[in-house]
Amino acid sequence: EQGRHGVEQAKEFLPDLILCDIQMPELDGYEVLEALRSHPQTASIPLIFLTAKTEHQDFRRGMKLGADDYLTKPCSVTELLESISSRLKRHAVLNLRASTPPLEGVQVASGDSPRMDSLTSLPTKVILEQQLQRSLDQSSKDSIVSVLCLNIHRFHTINASFGNEVGDRVLQQVADRLRQVVESEALNGHLARLHSDQFGLILNHLTEMEVSEVAQTLLAVLTAPYLIEDREIRLQVSLGITNNLNSLSSPQTLLTQAETAQRWCQKRGASGYRFYSVSLDAMEVERRLIEMDLGKAIEQSEFQVYYQPQVDLGTGRIVGMESLLRWSHPTRGMISPGTFIPIAEELGLIVPLGEWVLRTACNHAKRWQALSLEPLRVSVNLSMRQLQQDNLLERVADILDETGFDPKLLSLELTETSVMQDVKAAIATLENLRKLGIEISIDDFGTGYSSLRYLNQLPIDSLKIDQTFVKQMEAAKGAEILSTIIEMAQKLKLHIVAEGIEDEKQLQFFRDRGCHAMQGYLYSPPIPIDEVHSLLSADRRLQLASA
Ligand code: C2E
Ligand code: MG
Ligand code: MG
Repeated sequence: EQGRHGVEQAKEFLPDLILCDIQMPELDGYEVLEALRSHPQTASIPLIFLTAKTEHQDFRRGMKLGADDYLTKPCSVTELLESISSRLKRHAVLNLRASTPPLEGVQVASGDSPRMDSLTSLPTKVILEQQLQRSLDQSSKDSIVSVLCLNIHRFHTINASFGNEVGDRVLQQVADRLRQVVESEALNGHLARLHSDQFGLILNHLTEMEVSEVAQTLLAVLTAPYLIEDREIRLQVSLGITNNLNSLSSPQTLLTQAETAQRWCQKRGASGYRFYSVSLDAMEVERRLIEMDLGKAIEQSEFQVYYQPQVDLGTGRIVGMESLLRWSHPTRGMISPGTFIPIAEELGLIVPLGEWVLRTACNHAKRWQALSLEPLRVSVNLSMRQLQQDNLLERVADILDETGFDPKLLSLELTETSVMQDVKAAIATLENLRKLGIEISIDDFGTGYSSLRYLNQLPIDSLKIDQTFVKQMEAAKGAEILSTIIEMAQKLKLHIVAEGIEDEKQLQFFRDRGCHAMQGYLYSPPIPIDEVHSLLSADRRLQLASA
């Protein structure tokens, strides 16, 4: 509540890590950090800012003063825990290098940490680390100790959609299935719940080949449907695997390696497993570099907004444009939003960045109305973080005021997953946005989780069918699934946009089924603003075969 008090406490208790707000009376967070850094005893304590100040300058200022991380509120528990754990790990490594007495944190912690997880009756991480240490001590030169880290994808959406009780039951069943595999295969292994939706497994004396087989069995068992209170729930899981062959490893290093492999595996989106390799660390470094540059990129205006036309399937004319962010990095060239947007989301930079896109798109779209016969809508992608902002409505309204852009021509695209996080809150926010006249569109439809339950409750106008479905049109049942999605959207009276249309056949398919608009390379890729002007002036139509 008060910076000065915080500094006094830090000097008295010398904590392992400090979480610090910025806006405080007497001494603000920046001054607290300066005070701590100038005092030898507190100078090296890791400090993480946790603040509502989302402006880029604030972030830069904090990092320049030597903060170890900068999180903006609201932030998720996982995010916070990840930040804390990575700073503590780093601090431990630095300390280890600086002084010889080895890591004792684990021993100390085990005294007061629970040994058993009460929900799943599995041992906790502390116990697993001890078992791992024992296995490593006992392993002779050529015996392998493997460590597996398992995580459920987007587990929070299960809690959000079905409630925490169902979430707990899922975790218990996952634990039961894990236990069964370990027992039935008579594996010499140790299981643990590492935290929330993450589990660990140590396997002794198995070759990499054998461990792969175990991983496949685990995946098959864990992805089979879960029946809970008459609901069928399916999970995606990813497994990261490492062993003690590559390095002189401590339990913590092995667990971190397994976690790293698991995180990279999860990035692919589907269930699977992956072995750790040093190149993953290199990729993490790459990611850190992008992280560091991302802050500067906003200041140095390295971002541009491209636009991809949406074409009406009745007239062949452009009816709207989707704004798509591009980052031209001074040394790395064009970086795709698929790479940097998740990072910007993690850092909280997506909020200022997203606002910049909205402002830019409104300004551009206002100008191009003069070039088109009919009013042209502009679509802007909104990230989950923006949707969770308390003042989203005011921010959007301010930008509309500032730019003088007609809200009726603005469409906001949200993914199912972001809406499903907190359905009630999302409904309220979306209703308010719609009152301003803004159109709400669900993006990447069909790739999110358990959407059908809520689809009719959500105040939405339009649905964008994800391009992965379009790509699978030719696959078995692909066309049937697409037809069903379209029929459903029609019954809900939604405007339907097909994304990722690349050829005539796909175009014809969606026209035949009464979709309203298309967006895809067949008509145009995303293009920079000056090309938009020439495209609009030319009034080029999409060639539509007569029905
Ligand atoms: P999205 O909103 O679903 O955008 C459509 C993506 O599909 C774009 O990728 C577009 O270039 C690509 N695409 C369009 N037509 C075709 C086609 O015919 N074939 C293929 N293969 N691809 C096509 P892009 O520009 O790389 O953007 C990727 C994602 O990044 C977007 O997916 C969106 O989720 C996110 N994104 C882009 N700009 C922003 C932004 O300003 N804010 C936020 N929050 N997210 C953004
Ligand atoms: Mg989109
Ligand atoms: Mg999309």
